[in-house]
Amino acid sequence: MTVENTSVRARHRSAENPDASLPVAATDGSVAQWTDRYTHALMDTFGAPQRVLVRGEGAYVWDADGNRYLDLLGGIAVNSLGHAHPTLTAAISAQLGTLGHVSNFFGSPTQIAFAERLLALAGAPAGSRVFLTNSGTEANEAAFKLARRNGGTDRPRVLALEGSFHGRSMGALALTHKAAYREPFEPLPGGVEFVPFADTEALEAAFAVDGDRVAALFLEPLQGEAGVRPLPPGYLALARKLTAEHGALLILDEVQTGMGRTGAWFAHQLPHIGGGIVPDVVTVAKGLGGGFPVGALIAYGERTATLLGRGQHGTTFGGNPVASVAGLATIAVIERDGLLAHVAALGATFRERLATAALVSEVRGEGFLIGIELVAPVAAAVAARALDAGFIVNPCTPTTVRLAPPFLLTAEQAGTFVDFLVGLPEDLS
Ligand SMILES: *Cc1c(COP(=O)(O)O)cnc(C)c1O
Repeated sequence: MTVENTSVRARHRSAENPDASLPVAATDGSVAQWTDRYTHALMDTFGAPQRVLVRGEGAYVWDADGNRYLDLLGGIAVNSLGHAHPTLTAAISAQLGTLGHVSNFFGSPTQIAFAERLLALAGAPAGSRVFLTNSGTEANEAAFKLARRNGGTDRPRVLALEGSFHGRSMGALALTHKAAYREPFEPLPGGVEFVPFADTEALEAAFAVDGDRVAALFLEPLQGEAGVRPLPPGYLALARKLTAEHGALLILDEVQTGMGRTGAWFAHQLPHIGGGIVPDVVTVAKGLGGGFPVGALIAYGERTATLLGRGQHGTTFGGNPVASVAGLATIAVIERDGLLAHVAALGATFRERLATAALVSEVRGEGFLIGIELVAPVAAAVAARALDAGFIVNPCTPTTVRLAPPFLLTAEQAGTFVDFLVGLPEDLS
């Protein structure tokens, strides 16, 4: 997996820019120099970057000083095929060299084939349809609009869970629970009510009064940003029963959990999570394009699929041929290389081994979406030490370190991080 530094860099440069007289993007400079330029050019919404990265290959990335990191975060559950995957790179390049963008006044074979592929993977019944977007936020925004079309003003209530994360646009933010994200931007689109997490009685209570005025219930099958938190067994089945009884839509946000991340194409397809339910809407993005920005809303069945009618939603980029081929190529590689089975199997042993570290109290998750719960609120310190040791991980809560590595991660690579974590002192601060 390790590749000699300079030859790879040279190869990538010539692929990016065969016309050497037109230098499109400079890459020379140290991490410190680039970080300084970053802080003067980019808004401070993310804070200063931890490192400035210049290239990737497989499960590794390199920073501008030449340091190598094992990428156990995968661009936050995005780079399912790792970095610079040759099949994905070739598919995107070929499509861009053939037909890169057309407006949605026109169709393209890749867009159509991609939508058909998603419907097939979803096991969606006849009459189901897809709306293609550029991100998870946009997929959820579309789902919110679709939910409004379910009953309109007769159904003003929209339910989401405490701890939920659905995105940062005004609509998706209205569905997102975290006060620090919401409060600076209030008032947000109305009608959203938050139900206590994982509480079946609270869910029943939310439908017990005015249940027929609920347009939709939004759920992550496994809450990602909140610390890789699973719902209790049977919860999705109960959600399906209550929404069906009251004519509300069950909308599953699989932006983080979908497209193979949990060892199944969709987390709700895992029997112990979904129990065989069929949702009304599933949203996906993150890993969908293997690193290329693309998202989708899948609407199950004729009635849900026609709630957004002609002219009621739109997008300029959504469904463009390059994004669509990125999705098709990513799916094709996952299938060809048997990566769902690999993610399920290695994910299980990886989690077991992580749990042996003294600093770890519990390991949650499915497949390659892993939440490492620590015995103390030292997740940020663990992530900082990991980075210095050459591992990219994410402290998604003060006590939780999240991993979402590429699907092609090997047992040996996983083992290097286990050894690192086991070697950390228990009294880390
Ligand atoms: C990341 C995420 C989103 C937002 O997706 P973007 O592509 O960042 O817009 C929405 N929902 C969930 C569950 C996510 O993890």
